[in-house]
Amino acid sequence: MEPKAGRRPNILFIMSDDHAAHAMSCYGSRINSTPNIDRIADGGMRLDNCFCTNSICTPSRASILTGTYNHINGVKTLSDRLDGRQLTVSKLLKQHGYQTAIIGKWHLGHGGDSDPTGFDFWSVLPGQGDYHDPAFIEMGERIAVSGYATDIITDKSIDWIAGRDKDKPFFLMCHHKAPHRPWIPDAKHAHLYEEIDIPEPETFDDDYSNRASAAAAAEMRIDRDLTKRDLKTDPPGRLEGAALKSWKYQRYIKDYLRCVASVDDNVGRLLDYLDEEGLADDTIVIYTSDQGFFLGDHGWYDKRFMYEESLRMPFVIRYPREIAPGSVSKRMVLNVDFAPMFLDYAGIAVPESMQGVSFRPILRGEHPAGWRTSMYYRYWMHLSEHKVYAHYGVRTEQYKLIYYYADALGTAGSEDIPMPPEWELFDLKKDPYEMINVYDDPDYARVAELLEQELYRLQDEVKDERYVRA
Ligand code: CA
Repeated sequence: MEPKAGRRPNILFIMSDDHAAHAMSCYGSRINSTPNIDRIADGGMRLDNCFCTNSICTPSRASILTGTYNHINGVKTLSDRLDGRQLTVSKLLKQHGYQTAIIGKWHLGHGGDSDPTGFDFWSVLPGQGDYHDPAFIEMGERIAVSGYATDIITDKSIDWIAGRDKDKPFFLMCHHKAPHRPWIPDAKHAHLYEEIDIPEPETFDDDYSNRASAAAAAEMRIDRDLTKRDLKTDPPGRLEGAALKSWKYQRYIKDYLRCVASVDDNVGRLLDYLDEEGLADDTIVIYTSDQGFFLGDHGWYDKRFMYEESLRMPFVIRYPREIAPGSVSKRMVLNVDFAPMFLDYAGIAVPESMQGVSFRPILRGEHPAGWRTSMYYRYWMHLSEHKVYAHYGVRTEQYKLIYYYADALGTAGSEDIPMPPEWELFDLKKDPYEMINVYDDPDYARVAELLEQELYRLQDEVKDERYVRA
């Protein structure tokens, strides 16, 4: 099934906000079903080890657009804006004949050099945006649209594809706000799951013992930190302790999953549209999210930590001309690799300045020699909002070493209150839920030493700096 000579694929990149892989049935979810996202996985490949390099919205988006780590693109925290004078994948695709658009969540700043660049059309939510009757900034003009954000973003995406120049390939970033906090569902899904209890995760009652102090210090606990705005109603007065925690979890997770259900329906609408227009064979379709999320895991909501649930990005991709249906890869792919992969499919040379690598060979089912077996992660927002300590670390196929350097280092969006640095080491094979820090276990002394060397090797490779307390 070769494309017509010289014909380059369309790219439809659908990204939601905070949708964890373990809330998708194609990833074996125990708590919901996502039949339309599963259509992409069934028709193509599911990546089981796709990771973000900094588990927070704005920075991950900057890495996706620039193909660089956050210390290079300058978007380390939620307080940073993208300097759009940088090279981005959208600019390169546009320069090389693609029609480009971004619709939905942008979250990289507005005005000056922070409006979207490299897009023929852009219509984005200001800041976090609203679920109902959201405002958009469309080509610089603020407009109001009535309806539900996930439906509107899909409508606008379909309209843009319909109105495209059919002689050119397209690149569309369709970015949903959902299922980001405060998890407000639409009327259609408001009563979904009302009659059932959603199962609680294995680590729901984590007490944070056997861990560095960062875990216990974090303020993202289901039982303590969800607000009235999150829960939408006061708990029944008779509830306390474990029963109250379980009640809060049900409130939280059901609204989250209702938002996901709407995203899934709307993914289905886009896939149906591609089918109806005869575009499915010539269009690469991706569904991903800017990072993972804690769905009651470790007793938490939110993200930020290098722990598996927030580190892992869901990533399913379909391209019938090149990707075998129903395939799965466990190779390590990072958000900085997305831009090089798009360019590879578009036949555009990947610029030196991009730090990621195209994983097109992996998608084709090949086993590229020398592919990475370790990855570098860094979270800068020391003690900000959910009180997570700043940390960096390395993940290999079996282990994860995290160093909480726990210092703001003058970074905007961080609190200047240094805490004692600490290490965590997990054996992911024996302890997949990361409940036991073995950093001080003598049996792991050699492993810890080698991982620390690997961490510094990766820092050199990506041009980041090792932390030294002043
Ligand atoms: Ca996010």
